[in-house]
Amino acid sequence: MDLHKLLLTKNDCYKANRKIAVKGIMVHSTGANNPYLKRYVGPDDGILGNNPNGNHWNQPRPDGQQKCVHAFIGKLANRDIATYQTLPWDMRGWHAGGKANDTHMGFEICEDNLTDKNYFNAVYHEAVELCAYLCRQFSLTEKNIICHSEGYKQGIASNHGDVMHWFPKHGKNMDIFRSDVKKQLGGVDVANANTPDVWAQKDWDWAKQQGWLDGTRPKDNLTRQEFAIVIRKLVEKK
Ligand SMILES: [Zn+2]
Repeated sequence: MDLHKLLLTKNDCYKANRKIAVKGIMVHSTGANNPYLKRYVGPDDGILGNNPNGNHWNQPRPDGQQKCVHAFIGKLANRDIATYQTLPWDMRGWHAGGKANDTHMGFEICEDNLTDKNYFNAVYHEAVELCAYLCRQFSLTEKNIICHSEGYKQGIASNHGDVMHWFPKHGKNMDIFRSDVKKQLGGVDVANANTPDVWAQKDWDWAKQQGWLDGTRPKDNLTRQEFAIVIRKLVEKK
């Protein structure tokens, strides 16, 4: 995932500044043929590219509507695929047109003309990675992910078809999407949890042998209390 951050601070939704207890993720797609992030995210940060129409969503009411999402996935100016976070994840978004706004983060995948397999596969993979990232951050599972059209069926979102007007054209649906997120959540971590990456192996072994680290959980974050232990060991040995 290529994650960037450009908060839409001029959007009325951002200014409303309401927090939610995050319970799920809603997947949207834009419903318009324009795969470039600059259509929705701005102003240009040097890699998005310039939007000469000035119709991105960093304004009070984009397209004259009250709407805002937590992230967009689409093309940078150089055509690479990227994700832009556009609201704080736990801020109440205006994306579902229903009660899901009180519980779900929402992100938009920028649509193209819906026929380009390469583009679809790239943004689909980016969306899987974004969902896995958010699941980890908010202790969610793949079961907490729905698309807009599923939200409508559950009575918590407005009557839109995304993303099920698009995914099936390329052999995917939301069940497959959820199982791909599950794989991303389970597979990588469990399989390689106790093996450091090749580039870190030598230093990891050294730190373990010297006793600076205890040699467990090579891929986990270092907490402040664990850092304190390492500092004490270093100073005492000196
Ligand atoms: Zn939608």
